[in-house]
Amino acid sequence: MEICKPDDLYIISEPIVLDHKITIDIKDVIDFCFCPLLYKYKKETPNELNIRELYDHEIRKTVYQFLFDLQNDKEMNSSLEFLKYLWGKYWIRSKTKKDLLITPSAYKRDTWDNKRQNGIKSIINFDEMIGRDSQFIIAVKHKYEIEIIPNVVLTGVFECIREKQNEDGTKIIQLINFVVDSNVYDTVMAQSYNLESIAAAFAFEQLFDQVEYQSITMNILTKKTYFKNFNEKDFNLLKDTVKSVIISLQNNINCTAPGQKCFHCSYRKKCEKNMK
Ligand code: SF4
Repeated sequence: MEICKPDDLYIISEPIVLDHKITIDIKDVIDFCFCPLLYKYKKETPNELNIRELYDHEIRKTVYQFLFDLQNDKEMNSSLEFLKYLWGKYWIRSKTKKDLLITPSAYKRDTWDNKRQNGIKSIINFDEMIGRDSQFIIAVKHKYEIEIIPNVVLTGVFECIREKQNEDGTKIIQLINFVVDSNVYDTVMAQSYNLESIAAAFAFEQLFDQVEYQSITMNILTKKTYFKNFNEKDFNLLKDTVKSVIISLQNNINCTAPGQKCFHCSYRKKCEKNMK
């Protein structure tokens, strides 16, 4: 049996050529890689956000709104107080009156409150991490669409593109990707090889050839920033991953392996029920 060497992982053996175009979003690729069952559950109920997904949605909405205002020079709206106001508006008011009045269990109440506190901590961190000076926000939550391998279109968003002035006066374009959660799997490896960041960097290079830039992953909950310049090897890893997910989806290959990751899965309860 031929042993697969680690470097083989980075080699695109044969590009898949499909007879029709397929479009897939980078978030779907990541979900499928995390667990094919999680991908399936999300697709089955696209409008039912669980508390973890809702938190992700609302905290990003807060961050994007703030960045939009910063981009449009709305000085009044670029304060920490305004960020707190936005967070209160999106998180507290995202609960219906019924949610507020008849919260079914203390556990759920605690989870809501825990997320509220995480949100406050995150926006305070975000406020410090993003700063105000020496920068020009170019784009916020800007969609991209790129043919990553023949007939496969990868979609995603540039969460924030800004031009930042360094201390020596030079300027650099920064591509920022936000991480809003944290768990035991947040190793340096997971953060610095964040597939969403690699995909954004790949799309940026395809769309803006020759522009020098820097990729940044900011975890606004843990207040950690990772700088990484991705290269061909990283892009090949991305292409291979996208290709593998598409082949798996087309051929109904679902390698589901319940394990420690289930502890952090927002579909755990549903999954346990379905597996019984
Ligand atoms: S609980 Fe585990 S097996 Fe089920 S969807 Fe989540 S990660 Fe997959």
